[in-house]
Amino acid sequence: MDSSKKNQQKRRSSAPSSMPRTLWSIDSPTRDLEPSNDHKAVNVQVVLRCRPLNEDEIKARTRLVVSCDELKREVTATQYMAYKQTDRTFVFDKVFGPASQQQELYDNVVAPVVNEVLEGYSWTIFAYGQTGTGKTYTMEGEGRQEKNGKLCENSGVIPRAVQKIFDVLESERADYSMKVTFLELYNEEITDLLAVDKGSNSLHDEHKRPLLLMEDGKGGVFVRGLEEEIVSTADELYAILDRGSAKKHTAETLLNKQSNRSHSIFSITIQIKQCNSDGSELIKCGKLNLVDLAGSENILRSGARQERAREAGEINRSLLTLGRVINALAENSVHVPYRESKLTRLLRDSLGGKTKTCIIATVSPSVLSQEETLSTLDYAFRAKSIKNRPEVNR
Ligand code: ADP
Ligand code: MG
Repeated sequence: MDSSKKNQQKRRSSAPSSMPRTLWSIDSPTRDLEPSNDHKAVNVQVVLRCRPLNEDEIKARTRLVVSCDELKREVTATQYMAYKQTDRTFVFDKVFGPASQQQELYDNVVAPVVNEVLEGYSWTIFAYGQTGTGKTYTMEGEGRQEKNGKLCENSGVIPRAVQKIFDVLESERADYSMKVTFLELYNEEITDLLAVDKGSNSLHDEHKRPLLLMEDGKGGVFVRGLEEEIVSTADELYAILDRGSAKKHTAETLLNKQSNRSHSIFSITIQIKQCNSDGSELIKCGKLNLVDLAGSENILRSGARQERAREAGEINRSLLTLGRVINALAENSVHVPYRESKLTRLLRDSLGGKTKTCIIATVSPSVLSQEETLSTLDYAFRAKSIKNRPEVNR
């Protein structure tokens, strides 16, 4: 790509030309497709990852209650109650035990997703689980060192996917354009993690300005005013990610937010122009949404505690609705309550729609988390029966 084109692409843009207006435009509701389209249906892919015991748990000699059989793709959780012990076994699409490495998860789960995104499919990867079980570790990783094109051992899904995308585009000398968005959802308010401070005197004001979720008139939604950054190199993209994460942390401190109660969605849209042998042109448009959900303990399932939490406004509506949407889809209900939360409105297409979906459920192996672990396993297992009907975006 010549430098003038690169410079042109570097411009920040809220209204790109030929690309779809926002990542969230959804063409039409897809639940009621004709039976003839059913051969296209693919199940939501559900992957389970169990982290190793942490130092405190090792020191406290906590009992292990989760065992993973990666070959059989089975996870067994033992529940200890007063005088009895019960084992429950769940089968997932893939299982990663405590010794699993970031590279392994990437190669087995995310690399095929990235290939399909480059073919023009839309994909969403969710990380779901209790706080402290490795959602952010899995999605972002730790100690990233992407400068000079190098990833470190602990780099997570996002930096690895970004590097792979650029490697492929560059090695194929593809004619492409790419844009990204990065938003946070906290207490049903959307904040743009990429927005730059435009004349506001205080960071506090800037962080308080929530964005509106609007209907697009075609059954989809879009976030009004969400910045779409045009990106042309992996380093630019890493810089954007760092900027977004820094903003998230500043907002946490300034507004007393709790990071375990917010959802973040990082999205990449890639348009690739392909020239056919007959001289015709084809534009493939792939999308990848990477979602780090609020800690699953924010659903608060137990009765009395739930009542109190409801009064205190502590229930995470988006997470609760996500669970209800999963249940409704799993049970083939006529009514799916997408509209009841911003998260499910934003990601509607990933649950029963045209976007392929992978859920990475994360759990702790410790007895201290046994209840939350079982509820994550149940939740994730239910999600396996959801069917999406993907189509290549052209
Ligand atoms: P969450 O985002 O779910 O709240 P984190 O990703 O912040 O959890 O992980 C909590 C801690 O556990 C971090 O210190 C992280 O390094 C560690 N951790 C999580 N998953 C793994 C894993 N699979 N292997 C090694 N350490 C992990
Ligand atoms: Mg986290």
